[in-house]
Amino acid sequence: MTLCVEGSMRYAALTDTGMVRDKNEDAYYADGRLFIVADGMGGHQAGEVASALAVEEFLRYEKDNRHRDPLRRLGEAVQAANRILVDRAAVDSALKGMGTTFTVLLVENGVYLGHVGDSRAYLLREGILNPLTRDHSLVERMVREGRITRKEARSHPRRNVILRALGLADELAVDLVRVDVRPGDRLLLCTDGLTARLEDADLESILGEEKDLQECARRLVAEANARGGEDNVTVIVIDLDHGDVPLVSAGEASGKRTRGWLRRLRSREDPDGGG
Ligand code: CA
Repeated sequence: MTLCVEGSMRYAALTDTGMVRDKNEDAYYADGRLFIVADGMGGHQAGEVASALAVEEFLRYEKDNRHRDPLRRLGEAVQAANRILVDRAAVDSALKGMGTTFTVLLVENGVYLGHVGDSRAYLLREGILNPLTRDHSLVERMVREGRITRKEARSHPRRNVILRALGLADELAVDLVRVDVRPGDRLLLCTDGLTARLEDADLESILGEEKDLQECARRLVAEANARGGEDNVTVIVIDLDHGDVPLVSAGEASGKRTRGWLRRLRSREDPDGGG
């Protein structure tokens, strides 16, 4: 568990292997300025390499390019992470086919979001949960096309098929958006180990009820595990509740990093690049 207070924000981060897997292939990073969750996939050790390597390369690129516009920098750093995964897999057969989701929030005179895959970001405002990301998954596409209901998507046999991830191809489309935040907002970043077990209504009630950040993160993970815990689960909960919208300059951020490892195999069918 990571708990930190950085100026006008507080955050807690927690990852857990779950009740079934023997490894945790999720990786996360949180330092008060950057918040990342990544859910690795691939055989043997490849999934944990993918998520960790993507976070590492993202941070390296971001650090070297702080002069650039935040949203542009975010997109380029995700692309850099994608490239290193593709390149590494090309020269190491043990890593062939590795990939990872990647969802990142940058707080820098505003809040910026970058997203690829089926990890998620949410914003809780005045008790109402708002999704900030859209899953790049087959079932999400089927729901949007009206072919299945959201409820059916949760138990669909192909619910693990993701359409976009880092490491699968040179070309990668990254969702990039500036998020309008207000004091009092609570943000959640999580991997699908959480959202496969808990519905949005569950997330909304836990995020709304539990004022203590660490306890909130712990409850989210405990609830996923109580409902089977079939996957690794990672959560980062961020409160923007101390006055103004956070203004954290690049120089103030202190590094704090935790990696977790998990096991997750996903099919890579139907790459559509579009989600
Ligand atoms: Ca997962």
